[in-house]
Parts: sequence; structure tokens; C-alpha cells
Amino acid sequence: MSKRKPKALVMLSGGLDSTLALATMKELGVETLALSFKTPFCNFDCGGGACAGDVSDVARRMGVKWRAEELGEEYVEMVRKPKHGYGSGMNPCIDCRIMMFRRAKEVMGEVGADFMVTGEVVGQRPMSQNPKALETIEKESGLKGKILRPLSARLLPPTDAETEGMVDRRRLKAISGRSRKEQISLAAEFGLKKYPNAGGGCVLTEKGFASRLRDLFQHSEKPGMREIRLLGVGRHFRLSDSCKLVVGRDMVENREISSLAEPGETLMAVQDYVGPVCLLVGQHGEEGGTAAGICVRYSDAPKDREVTVRLFDKDEKLLGTVVASALAEERYAKYRL
Ligand code: SF4
Repeated sequence: MSKRKPKALVMLSGGLDSTLALATMKELGVETLALSFKTPFCNFDCGGGACAGDVSDVARRMGVKWRAEELGEEYVEMVRKPKHGYGSGMNPCIDCRIMMFRRAKEVMGEVGADFMVTGEVVGQRPMSQNPKALETIEKESGLKGKILRPLSARLLPPTDAETEGMVDRRRLKAISGRSRKEQISLAAEFGLKKYPNAGGGCVLTEKGFASRLRDLFQHSEKPGMREIRLLGVGRHFRLSDSCKLVVGRDMVENREISSLAEPGETLMAVQDYVGPVCLLVGQHGEEGGTAAGICVRYSDAPKDREVTVRLFDKDEKLLGTVVASALAEERYAKYRL
């Protein structure tokens, strides 16, 4: 009777490291299934500039079955109050990994995987990839001994897959740190030519996004997915506790802002001049005048005279007009998020 092949669930982000981890498993004769996560903040797990299209494409090129899991409101709630705190921005990397790994554990049960594989490299990410964090993540996700990290495995305690003979530890790597030199030479060994550059990744690590998200959490008990999506579009101005202005930076953002407007909200655009579509979110009174001034400021309208600003609803129905002149930067800079 032939011995069953060991089976691994590989966390695939589409970045180089997770692709190498997958390639290593395939080379060692392990049966693999790739898993990626979509959150309200990024399309798929961090891993360096990956996106949904990239991940499915990588899985297809690597000849592996691919499955995507979505984390929604529970993820937002975790980001609001992470047990293990934030990294440099609003990135709760340890809690994020724990949440993803717990879900991955369920998937392992469903598909009958013996262990899980990630592309994590010891010391590459300060918050979540130091040995202590890796141990915490394993423990709290209930996967102690079940997570194999082929790129750094020989620097870490042996996992069940190694001690039980499913994987030969001697053929795993001892890579650490932020340099990608060893990964690039390993990619060449595997004949991998197409992979994303390092960097990019999760918006929660970005300073500007973090400031907008912090503001959202301060002003909304339970932000919806629309509020989260808006954070990634345009310039944001907190005009008062009840009102925020979002200003489009180009045609694509103008279209997106219009499409994200909700019934009862007011959109603005300067009449007769090229300029942004602006959305007033929340209750507004006097803030409307400031918003119109900001809207003129970011348009091509002359800055030394009054122009007409059109107010309209989400269905482009004209609600009225106001006359406004461009607000000087020193008057609106304090509102900028
Ligand atoms: S950078 Fe941190 S918060 Fe963002 S997806 Fe990766 S682990 Fe999660």
C-alpha cells in the first residue's frame, strides 16, 4: 500500500517569500493547497505588493489549488482594540496573524492538512516576525508545532512536520533579516522569474492611512465597510466632530467618491472649472462653507475671486449652489487628516 503524501496548507500572499515557501514544499513532495486572506483594509495578506489578481495568478503558475478567505467586521473590531498593540502605524500585526491563523486552522481541518506553511522570515518584520512574536502567534492560534516556516525553519525549534518525518529539516533554510539576497538566489534555483518587489503591502502600516483610521475610530462606534473604503480615497478633512470632508485627487477618485456617497449626503464640485468631487460625510451646518472653500482651493478656479460651487446628491440631482472663494492653506491645514 502506498504511503499517503503529507498535506500542507500554504499561506500565500503572492509575494516572493510565500511563493518560495510553496515552491519548497512542492519540491519536497508535499501535497499543497494555497490560502489567502482578504480583509477590509487590504486585498490579501501582507507580503509585498501583492493583490488579488497576483495571488490567483501565482497559484495558477505554481500549479496549486487556491482558496481565499474573507475577514470582515470581526477584523475591524480587532484593529480597533488589538490585544498585542500596534506596529509603526495602525497595524496590529500579531493579532492580525492570530486571527488569520485561527481561520487557517479551521480550513486545515476541513481539507485534512497535516500542517501549515508560511513564508515568514525571522527578523524580517519587527513586530510579527521576531521569535517571541512567532511563538505567541502559534500559541494563541492553537497551532503550536503545526506552523512550518521553510525559509527560516533551521533557526526555529523543529515543528511536528519535521519531527514526524513528513519534511526533511536538512532541506529547509536558515534565512533571517530584511535582506532579500538569499530569497532572490533561491528564486533563481526554482526558476521563478516573475515576483513582486518588496515593499507595498498593508495600508495599516502607512502613516496617512493610520491617521485617518484613528480619526474614524474616535468618531464612530461601529464604522461600516463604506467608511473603511472611503479611508483609502482622496484627501480627508475633519471639519467637526460630526462632519468630515473627502476631496478627490483625480478623476478615478472623483468617480469613486461619487459612488460611495449615501442617500442624504452632499457632494460638491466647482462649476465651470476642472476640480475635485468632494463629499461631506455626516451632519453639517456651518462646515458647509469651509468645505466649499476647500473644494475651490483644490480646483483650477482662480484663487482671487468667488466662484459657484454646485451641491448635488448621490444621484447627481442638483440640491443648490453656493458662492465661495478658495480657502487659504493656513485656514484649512488644521483640518487635514
Ligand atoms: S502588515 Fe500586519 S496588519 Fe497588515 S496584513 Fe500584514 S500582519 Fe496584518
